[in-house]
Parts: sequence; C-alpha cells; structure tokens
Amino acid sequence: MSGQNVQISFDGMPEKLFSCTPYRLETWLDCPKKYRYTYIEIPKPPRGGPWGHTSMGSAVHNALREWFTLPQEQRTDEKGAELVVKHWRSEGFRDDEQSERYRFRAQQWVRQYLTGVNPNDEPRGLERTVSATTERLSLSGRVDRIDERDGELVIVDYKTGKRPPDEIEAGGSLALAIYAIGAERTLRKKCRTVELHHLPSDTKAVYRHDEASLARHVQRAERIAAEALAATSQGRFTATPGALCGYCDYARICTDADREPAQPWAGLDENS
Ligand code: SF4
Repeated sequence: MSGQNVQISFDGMPEKLFSCTPYRLETWLDCPKKYRYTYIEIPKPPRGGPWGHTSMGSAVHNALREWFTLPQEQRTDEKGAELVVKHWRSEGFRDDEQSERYRFRAQQWVRQYLTGVNPNDEPRGLERTVSATTERLSLSGRVDRIDERDGELVIVDYKTGKRPPDEIEAGGSLALAIYAIGAERTLRKKCRTVELHHLPSDTKAVYRHDEASLARHVQRAERIAAEALAATSQGRFTATPGALCGYCDYARICTDADREPAQPWAGLDENS
C-alpha cells in the first residue's frame, strides 16, 4: 500500500493515484450519467427517497454486525431476530402493515442464518474498511465480514436480494475480488476465498480466487477507471437508459430515463 497515495508513473512524471471504491466503478458500468450525478456534479443533485428493500437489507446487515459484537453467550438465534427489530426502519414501505410483514420475514432470515453460525467464532473484521493500491488506483471498500479459517482470510458479503447468487457471480464480482486484495494487504494475511451469503434462501455462493483471477479483476478495475477518467476530462457522460432507470435514485430528474421510477417497495420480493 502507498501511504502518500502518489507514485511515479512509467514516464517518470508523478501521477496521483485515482481513489475509488468498487461501487464507484460499478456505477460507471451501470450508467455514466448516473456516475456524473453521484460523483462529479457539485452541488449534488437531489436523490430519490429511500427504498423498502434497502431498509430491509440495512436492518439485516446491522443486526448481524451487532450480533458478532455481543459476548458469545448472548449470541443466540433469537437475539439476532431481536436485533433486526432494533435496527428496523420503515422508510420505503407502502404502509405499516407491509413494513411489519417484511420485518417479520427479515427476522426469520436472520434466525435461520444464525442456526448455521458458530457463536464462538470471532470474525477478523466487521464492516471493516480495507484498501490496496495498484499501478494506477487506490482501491478501498467496506467488507461485511472477514473470517479467518485454516490460516487464511475469507470475505463474507451478505445478500438480501430476490435471486440467490451462484459461484459464477461470486467469482465474477469485482467488489469481492477487490475486498480480497484489500483484506490481504490490510490484515497481512492470505485471502483467496470470497463468499456471498444469501439470507432469503439461506445459501452460500463460494469462489476461490488464485493470483491470475485476482490480477484479471485488477486489470478490469484499471480499465473501467481509465474509461471513467477519460470521459470525465472530456465532460462526456453518455446515458445508458434501461431496466436500471426504474430503480435509479436520479430517475426523477434525469431526462434520459426511459421509464417511470418504480414504487419504493417494488424491489421487495413478494414470494420470498
Ligand atoms: S435514470 Fe437511467 S439514464 Fe438516467 S442516470 Fe439513472 S440509469 Fe442513467
């Protein structure tokens, strides 16, 4: 890692590293205009209101984080369900009835998930920020959980979306690969395994990286960043309207949106 965030480029000229998170790079891929709204425009344009599925995901993440900070004897399944209530926010739901119904569902997810967790295991990190530099980038990100198993670090990312992810998604995730690289640099221990823990289905998608697959993700991150930087210097942020517009925080102000903004509760899964 670089303490100063500056390095010498190939032509001998000092070059500032581009600081970014996986989310920033993914936002560029989603839609360059959304990237402009999110990272370039000053003052920042108004965003849409909260989403129900985001409120639900936050409550689950916060409950699981706090659960691991409790004394081991208090880490029960039921305590996890209680923590969901503690962290619940009803923003983004249609009404109180819908909010309560999904809160109950989130409690069930957490209770079930924790039946498979050993309360005596201490994670190496909880919502831990990790970072690493590459030739051109200063990458950082916050990891839901970092475990240590068999002498290696393991990246754990909680998912609460509709669809269970698979191994291909775990291996193809730029964010998870960057977390693995960052965790290894930050905590000075080997990290190759990344896991997506899907609470609604109580399934795990696991992928084990090697040097080559991590290097490919770094190259990809550098390509995306180079594209975003070049477009920024030219003020060129071409909108790519599509299905994401319905859930874009800027759909209400974007003249390129190709559909009406979805209802705040549209991302909730009625069948989960
Ligand atoms: S509404 Fe659609 S086109 Fe506009 S910024 Fe968002 S994703 Fe891009």
